[in-house]
Amino acid sequence: MNRDTAEIDKFAALAHQWWDENGELRTLHQLNPLRLAWIAQQADGLADKTVLDIGCGGGILAESMAKASAASVLGIDLADKSIKVAKLHALEAGIKNLRYQSIAAEELAAQQPASFDVVTCMEMLEHVPDPASIVQAAAAALKPGGTAFFSTINRNAKAWALAIVAAEYVLGLVPKGTHHYDKLVRPSELAAWARAAGLDLIASSGVEYNPLTRRVRLSANTDVNYMLAFSKPA
Ligand code: SAH
Repeated sequence: MNRDTAEIDKFAALAHQWWDENGELRTLHQLNPLRLAWIAQQADGLADKTVLDIGCGGGILAESMAKASAASVLGIDLADKSIKVAKLHALEAGIKNLRYQSIAAEELAAQQPASFDVVTCMEMLEHVPDPASIVQAAAAALKPGGTAFFSTINRNAKAWALAIVAAEYVLGLVPKGTHHYDKLVRPSELAAWARAAGLDLIASSGVEYNPLTRRVRLSANTDVNYMLAFSKPA
């Protein structure tokens, strides 16, 4: 089974914090409008599309995609607690075009192959034992002509210094122990897994945090945090 229980428990323990914009997961809230806009732009809009969000957590991105468009969004994660939080938040917000399920990506892709116009998988690959298998599942769940999005953290000295040492221990942007250096993913590795799954790279973006202004912005620099977009040939 492609899951690291310790990793899933780590996020489940934070489940009550998912929607606390000033809590331990605040950086995801800060980043969300930027990644939402990038995803919508690369996917040629989300309106009326079917969207799968793999490793959705409490639904920060999934709910925003459902709110921003008439897209039909399904969020999946293996942390039951997070799925419960996500469901409750969507219910309270009265959002109808959003569903959540506790299921593995591979299983969902086997049940619903070639079913989604857009698949997103953000900040999750660096937490699973076999990330290539998640990329493969994302590709399988995607309709031909669809677009897949992944975000993760690069693996190099600068990424170690900024995304682990600075973000976890100096600035406290994310909880200590969130990321393990050897689990980080180079863009070339992610692109190779996607290529092996039949996907074509269409765009990339860096995600940069400025510690002075405490702002996140998108840039061309993929040295540390980054996102890649792929299309599945029609
Ligand atoms: N994608 C969300 C949450 C990122 S946090 C966002 O960007 O806002 C990482 C998420 O991956 C957590 O919710 C965790 O429970 C989930 N996760 C970790 N391993 C997983 C696995 N093997 N299968 C599904 N989800 C997993």
